[in-house]
Amino acid sequence: MRAAVLHEIGQDKLEVLDDVEAVGFGPGKVRIRVRATGLCHSDVSAMSGVLPQPAPFVPGHEGAGEIADIGDGVTGLSEGQRVLLCWLPACGTCPACKRGQTQLCLAGFMNAGTPNFRRPDGEVFGFAGTGTFTEEVVVDAGCAVPIPDDVPFDIAALIGCGVTTGLGAAINTAKVEAGSSVAVIGCGGVGISAIQGARLQGAAQIVAVDPVESRREAALRFGATEAVPPDGLADAKQRITAGEGFDYVFEVVGRSATARTAYEATRRGGTLCVVGAGALDDFLQLNMFELFFDEKKILPSMYGGGDVLRSYERAIALWRAGRIDLESLITHRVPLSGINEALEQMRTGVALRTCIEI
Ligand SMILES: [Zn+2]
Ligand SMILES: [Zn+2]
Repeated sequence: MRAAVLHEIGQDKLEVLDDVEAVGFGPGKVRIRVRATGLCHSDVSAMSGVLPQPAPFVPGHEGAGEIADIGDGVTGLSEGQRVLLCWLPACGTCPACKRGQTQLCLAGFMNAGTPNFRRPDGEVFGFAGTGTFTEEVVVDAGCAVPIPDDVPFDIAALIGCGVTTGLGAAINTAKVEAGSSVAVIGCGGVGISAIQGARLQGAAQIVAVDPVESRREAALRFGATEAVPPDGLADAKQRITAGEGFDYVFEVVGRSATARTAYEATRRGGTLCVVGAGALDDFLQLNMFELFFDEKKILPSMYGGGDVLRSYERAIALWRAGRIDLESLITHRVPLSGINEALEQMRTGVALRTCIEI
């Protein structure tokens, strides 16, 4: 079957090969025929080595499709069932799961070191234990989450990562209060979802910050009250908050430099919500005086910062009710053979989300 493979960390192009096999099927597993997958920034970060990931590997972790085969002992799923892929399946029994914080369950990462694919010349890993830039993938049954019939595969794929992450940051983690002021730094698919979350929560002002003009324009359509390039943030802070700083600032880039900018744009006592996935060797500097004296809350948000399945259900309910726009998040579509085009669209920032249709 076909899959897009990165041969070595640091390469910037994928090769679409037709000699890849999905391996690992057996008890407790399901085989999924992938129909749609989004290109998330984390895929690019894993390719470049910012996020740890063994190679060669098949990127992609935001996907949806149909169940093609069910292993022994799997209950509650049937062949042909439409599912989205959850890259962080909850074990249900660890302390984090018992607390309802399934986004912190580490069980899914135990599979990350096991290859999901094979080629004639050796084993191939799947990103984050999944790997969705492929026709088929074998995953733990817990990674296959049934979706209602009215949710198309492309929308379900987005809910599998970017939308859940951004919405959850605003709703679960930061708990944006009605009437507050918000700035969102980084307006790709996740940042736009944080903007939609802040709007749902009733934020009075939402400033979108992004160097790419088309993303700033998009942010306004999704509920930002104004949009500025990075060098316009200081002026927006002055105008909107009289220099005090925003009640909430979302860092959706994953770099210490933007996190520091976000920290400075947050008012004393306000909340800096870190959503971007950054590197192991990129350190955020804060001095102990400001940390204490300014009482800014630094709240990281992982995969929506709450129960993952509940977050999916909420995103579907909000989408169905027309309270969030997910269709317009998909600005580009390509077949699997166009995957490098999708990577280029992400790097240049022209795409909010590119959907790869398989
Ligand atoms: Zn668990
Ligand atoms: Zn993602």
